[in-house]
Amino acid sequence: MKEAKEAKALSIIQRLREHGFVAYLAGGCVRDRLLGVKAKDFDIATDARPEAVQQLFSNTIAVGAKFGVVLVLIDGDPFEVATFRADAPYFDGRRPSAVRFGSLEADAARRDFTIGGMFYDPQSERVIDLVGGQRDLRAGIIRAIGDPRQRFAEDRLRMLRAIRFAARLDFEIEPATMEAIRRAAPAITDISAERIGDELVMIVTEGKAARGMELLRQSGLMRPLLPEVEALIGCEQPANYHPEGDVYRHTMLAMSMLDYGCTETLAFGVLFHDIAKPRTREVKGDKTTFYGHTEQGSEMAIQILQRLRRSRFVQNRVAYLVRYHLRLGDAPKMRPSTLKRMLAEDGFDELLSLARMDALASSSYLGFYHFCRRAMLAHEPQQLHPPRLLNGNDLIAMGFTPGPDFKTILKQVEDLQLDGELADRDAAIAWVRGHFHPAPEA
Ligand code: ATP
Ligand code: MG
Repeated sequence: MKEAKEAKALSIIQRLREHGFVAYLAGGCVRDRLLGVKAKDFDIATDARPEAVQQLFSNTIAVGAKFGVVLVLIDGDPFEVATFRADAPYFDGRRPSAVRFGSLEADAARRDFTIGGMFYDPQSERVIDLVGGQRDLRAGIIRAIGDPRQRFAEDRLRMLRAIRFAARLDFEIEPATMEAIRRAAPAITDISAERIGDELVMIVTEGKAARGMELLRQSGLMRPLLPEVEALIGCEQPANYHPEGDVYRHTMLAMSMLDYGCTETLAFGVLFHDIAKPRTREVKGDKTTFYGHTEQGSEMAIQILQRLRRSRFVQNRVAYLVRYHLRLGDAPKMRPSTLKRMLAEDGFDELLSLARMDALASSSYLGFYHFCRRAMLAHEPQQLHPPRLLNGNDLIAMGFTPGPDFKTILKQVEDLQLDGELADRDAAIAWVRGHFHPAPEA
């Protein structure tokens, strides 16, 4: 059975064809079809002009009519329908300075890599490959279409796209293409931080994140983009805790455990969990320490993620993961209220995943991980977030005057409730009466 989205894309092609236009599936979906994997999206290339496309379909958005791209919506699913084009010369390494509509050949030639430069004609079931994409796909190669140096000068983002595809597909980057990336790598920062950030997120969340990092390093892109990660190389740590090697090696081993489709916050949490080790490393005699690396690391993570224009939510969540990644080791010693509060924290499930990968990338001691998992399973959400026994109004009713003490009293009541020592409201009131006294009326 055809995937519903694909069937919808084919219906768009069919309609364009009925009106005398040429239309094909194009780019990534053709590559994915040949690889036998599910495509993220189905893009269509046609000789119909944007105005004609808009007339043929009832529900369209002219997202990039200037660039010849119209979004056609079929039952809510969006499809990019792009007019064949030949991009004019680039002046700033970012965006085409103008767009010319052109031939199928020109449209293939303006695409970045051979494996993403093919078309598929659903009617004849034929792949139209003008750039040697099938050959490279079989050989597992990422190769720039045309002169690689020129292609990376036109659009610097393509360097990161090459790394992303090579990592995700486990392909090699063709030597001349890699050499061109090495030369242009320092200029990657010419493009906007948002575009860089979005591309890095894809590199770390599409599986094979460790390979993506290695390729960034080998290509010279890591230095301008993530110098803090490169600084982990050669940061030695005690062999008894970390038989695997330096902090970079440890981090890469942990990164290799990230699955396709993992969250961006977990991926960055893993990447940055030991990011402050180089700057907190101290050697005294035969002892090496990294005091404060979790706190400093969480601050560094925020800085890096701000630089990459990631959302406030992402910054805070990653900072939380980095700051607390060692705390799980204390779980078996925690009093019940502390443990329950930790289990109920937003992001705790990600913290648990991070701690698991961290452990598997070194000692492989997972005792605390299983302890926390068991504790999670043993508690209903209701037990982790029980309804409060008392609130501020209750304290006022008991004769207390609102003030800073309220927080202390209510927190202690909650602790005892979570510890299982106060079962109901009456018990809580009795406990407060026994431990605190309202200030006498002035
Ligand atoms: P994915 O599976 O990640 O979506 P994709 O190959 O479909 O990969 P897209 O970013 O969706 O990549 O772009 C669709 C197609 O548009 C690409 O296959 C490529 O032919 C072309 N393309 C996209 N971005 C660029 C670019 N910066 N320079 C040249 N061609 C590009
Ligand atoms: Mg795509």
